[in-house]
Amino acid sequence: MTAQLSVRDLEKSFGAVKATNGATFDIMPGELHAIIGPNGAGKSTLISQIAGELRPDSGSIWFAGQDITAVPAHARPALGLARSFQVSQLYPEFSLQENVALAIAAREGRTFGLWKPLASDRSLLDPAQQYLTRVGLGERPERLVSELSHGERRQLEIALALSQEATLLLLDEPMAGMGGEESARMTTLLNELKGRYAILLVEHDMDAVFALADRITVLVYGKTILTGSVDEVRNHPEVRAAYLGE
Ligand code: ADP
Ligand code: MG
Repeated sequence: MTAQLSVRDLEKSFGAVKATNGATFDIMPGELHAIIGPNGAGKSTLISQIAGELRPDSGSIWFAGQDITAVPAHARPALGLARSFQVSQLYPEFSLQENVALAIAAREGRTFGLWKPLASDRSLLDPAQQYLTRVGLGERPERLVSELSHGERRQLEIALALSQEATLLLLDEPMAGMGGEESARMTTLLNELKGRYAILLVEHDMDAVFALADRITVLVYGKTILTGSVDEVRNHPEVRAAYLGE
């Protein structure tokens, strides 16, 4: 089976700091693959390189068998590679459903509202509703973005990524700032999405990582020290010493 994503020997320095320094791993289709490592290990830098926002100094990134190392960031979503949207890019005076509909229209290169008001365009609103339902926001699609809780905004970001027909989701600490109930809801959502989508998850909440991950890659000083199952990673002496603080 061709990997959905292959990262090979990625290196990226900021001055003297080697933020990634030999990051290597594969994510298979439908796999939830967690990347863990201490603060400053290079996890966010790694995601920015996969999303195309940062250019690696060396190494390569392959997506569904294609070398995308030199593909610009704006061209990657069309391949199926979605970094979660920033809610700040949304239209606050539009409803959730309309915002997802506008993202679908943008992906399809359609002009909306010119011939037909968005509010009656079922060909956009119906699929938008399906994406909202898939992330657990289907019940009150008429709400405005400004009415959402922090946790609901993160759910909406995922709906927007799905609306771009992503096959790989890049999630950098989706549970950050969440209370117990919200992170439990996000855990349930990610559990439902994996299998259907490949997911790269960076997350500090180790309970969530151990509950969700098919495999885990441990990054220390920008370098892969281990990729393995939850049990392999939990029981690895170097991981216990370097990361779990034992
Ligand atoms: P993590 O997400 O694992 O906490 P980061 O990828 O954010 O780690 O950072 C890795 C290292 O690279 C850190 O030492 C950080 O200070 C440095 N770094 C990250 N981004 C930049 C940048 N834009 N300019 C300079 N240094 C950076
Ligand atoms: Mg980070």
